[in-house]
Amino acid sequence: MTLTGRLLEGIKYSQNEVYSFLSNVIEQNSYGHAYLFLGPSGSGKLEAARALAQGILCSNSCCGICDDCQRVASDTHPDLHTLSPQSAQGYLIGQIRDLINDLDYKPMLSQHKVYILNDAQNLTPSSANALLKSLEEPPGSVVFILLGTSGDAILPTIVSRCQTITFKPVSHETMVLALTSELGILPEKACEALSCCTSLEQARSFLGSVPRQNARKFALDCFTNLSRADSQELLNRAKKAVQAAKDIVADYKESSETLVNEQAKLLSKTAIHDLEEQQKREIAQRERMAYKEQLHAMRSLLRDSLTLQCGYCEQPTCPDFINTSKEIAQLLCPTSITKALQYIQSCIEALEANATPLLAYEALLMKIQRLYC
Ligand SMILES: [Zn+2]
Repeated sequence: MTLTGRLLEGIKYSQNEVYSFLSNVIEQNSYGHAYLFLGPSGSGKLEAARALAQGILCSNSCCGICDDCQRVASDTHPDLHTLSPQSAQGYLIGQIRDLINDLDYKPMLSQHKVYILNDAQNLTPSSANALLKSLEEPPGSVVFILLGTSGDAILPTIVSRCQTITFKPVSHETMVLALTSELGILPEKACEALSCCTSLEQARSFLGSVPRQNARKFALDCFTNLSRADSQELLNRAKKAVQAAKDIVADYKESSETLVNEQAKLLSKTAIHDLEEQQKREIAQRERMAYKEQLHAMRSLLRDSLTLQCGYCEQPTCPDFINTSKEIAQLLCPTSITKALQYIQSCIEALEANATPLLAYEALLMKIQRLYC
């Protein structure tokens, strides 16, 4: 059997117990109707969920090469549905209602349909309750895979209806090793990706996206010679970073506008309105993700500075900005760097609560610059 395109191999190094469990399940071709994958962010739950989906949707024991396997790998399989919360507060009840309505439709290509629900801890009580019955007795062709950080954060009624699989935290070193051996890249390049990504899957797609790599670079550029930048320069840096984050979503925005225009002739006004609203939420969610990556990179840079101050930084997380982290380590004391890290955390929270990104970035840079005085 060839292993090409088998997503399961992606968690072989990082989650060996889950790997063995899922290999068995796939080999026996016997699936439960609801799984709950629990583990910290970055532990490879989504990858594992898609690997399981490949096993379920492929009719050739997860061959990795058939049309079904290829489509799952490129996330274009019509019988694989991946959902994420569409609002900063969590899943919208409408999202769950749409999902429930969708359950009764027959699979399009395979014998089964798989629904992956990211961030199951963000199922609000009303959306979780709406889902319960379907979770307990889904149509025979349906398999649910819920992903969550911890069982405590999820309603017990949800947990009790699923087969739980626990993921262990994955160390930075393991992730670097996995990326370098899988993609044949240098450890430095792997570190760059991991400075802003929290999972291997996110890091892999980051390494394939030039706009995301640019966005990270503009975010980190904000810190180079920060002590000497005047207010106009600060604003410029914030603007460039925000623009670079928006550029990531530009392609998606364009294609979704084309889709709406095409559908305008076919759909009713209400349906068009719903489609537009859904796409607006999707764009907002992607933008939030882009800012998060930038802020994570900033955080990694400051952590490098802290490590440098302790006298060891053999493998910096931002090797391409080592001069900047050295400069920060020379000019700021550990207490100030810790304060700067807190400001970044507050900025992440402000953006999650829908703050204006440009204002949030500008305020962040001003506050950090004041620490230099
Ligand atoms: Zn296959």
